[in-house]
Amino acid sequence: MSRLSRIRGPRPLYICAATIAGGAAYRFLQPESSNASLHPHDFAPYILVDKQPVSSTSAIFTLHDGFGVPEPDSVTEARKRGVWSVQAKQPQLQIARAYTPLPSISDEADEVDGHNLRFLIRKETGGEMSNYLHRLPEGSTIELRGPTVEYKLPQDVKEVIFLAGGTGIAPAMQIAQALQRSPGSTMHLLWANRRREECEGGLNDATVNTSGQQSSWWKGLLGLERTAAQKLPVGTPKTANKGLIVQEIEALKERSRAATGELNVQYYVDEEKSFIKPGDLARQMHTEPVDGAGSRLILISGPDGFIEYWAGKKLWVDGREVQGRLGGMLAKMDLKDWKVFKL
Ligand SMILES: Cc1cc2nc3c(=O)[nH]c(=O)nc-3n(C[C@H](O)[C@H](O)[C@H](O)COP(=O)(O)OP(=O)(O)OC[C@H]3O[C@@H](n4cnc5c(N)ncnc54)[C@H](O)[C@@H]3O)c2cc1C
Repeated sequence: MSRLSRIRGPRPLYICAATIAGGAAYRFLQPESSNASLHPHDFAPYILVDKQPVSSTSAIFTLHDGFGVPEPDSVTEARKRGVWSVQAKQPQLQIARAYTPLPSISDEADEVDGHNLRFLIRKETGGEMSNYLHRLPEGSTIELRGPTVEYKLPQDVKEVIFLAGGTGIAPAMQIAQALQRSPGSTMHLLWANRRREECEGGLNDATVNTSGQQSSWWKGLLGLERTAAQKLPVGTPKTANKGLIVQEIEALKERSRAATGELNVQYYVDEEKSFIKPGDLARQMHTEPVDGAGSRLILISGPDGFIEYWAGKKLWVDGREVQGRLGGMLAKMDLKDWKVFKL
């Protein structure tokens, strides 16, 4: 997801003084105007019930529907098949920003907390909305509107390679959850972060290591693939030293397995000098073409620079963000029947 581009471009979410006129602005400015839950046009109040730090700059925010009404059908539908977001409003500055709800932790949690929305939110240096949200104490009201469906998975999807940078992990987790409805599907998630603190304790699954070399079976046997930072002492409980998002990814892996699918994860950390390499993708694309156009997908979500590096810039046309041509590293690779989508 070109996560900052929509505000650097035409800034469609900004409502400045000059535009406070039409119906849209009226809706935007209305305080807690409806007593329904999430709605695409009207902001609805949610209560910040929990804020769990993930790292020094990011936290998981849990928001509870202010009216305690059941989740609307639009959200239930959005959860099922793809990537979706909601917008949060900063009431003093009258700005709104998009955030991507994390998938629910478990089926049981769905039943108990049916109308909770959870977000991984990074505090951007100098960022108006993200700093505002991080300053809010528990119990505060945050107004949200949505959902906006950003991407719908094709029905016949078989395999997904997901390149995620930073908070681009949230849409990747939505896709992992949605794929649980496609038995036999496989997802290869390659998650890059600047610092280890974002993915503490995250261990690689597949047969590549993060320096892009093929792993040797004897290294696997001896556990030598793990870097010092990744190694856990013998007897360490499963969740000890694991970041909150890493724990959630591991839970998603379990749920994928139970749904006869597969979720493989590779972690990359800039400060450990491990970077996603084209060869890491090529190794996941080795299998023979399968039937069905669009059934093998490469999805990319993260900061603008990350998306541009891998797939070229997204563009603004007539006030809408569009895919733009395929550029970057992927344009130089033999993609076979794999389709690319920039989130
Ligand atoms: C569909 C979608 C989903 C998203 N989901 C998430 C999510 O789940 N989690 C998440 O954390 N984020 C997400 N984002 C990003 C989020 O919407 C915000 O863009 C982000 O929180 C920063 O907003 P802000 O108001 O804090 O920063 P802003 O105030 O808009 O500033 C952003 C950055 O630009 C810099 N900047 C601001 N103005 C200028 C200027 N004039 N010149 C140069 N630099 C400038 C700031 O210093 C800051 O680093 C998503 C974005 C989209 C489009």
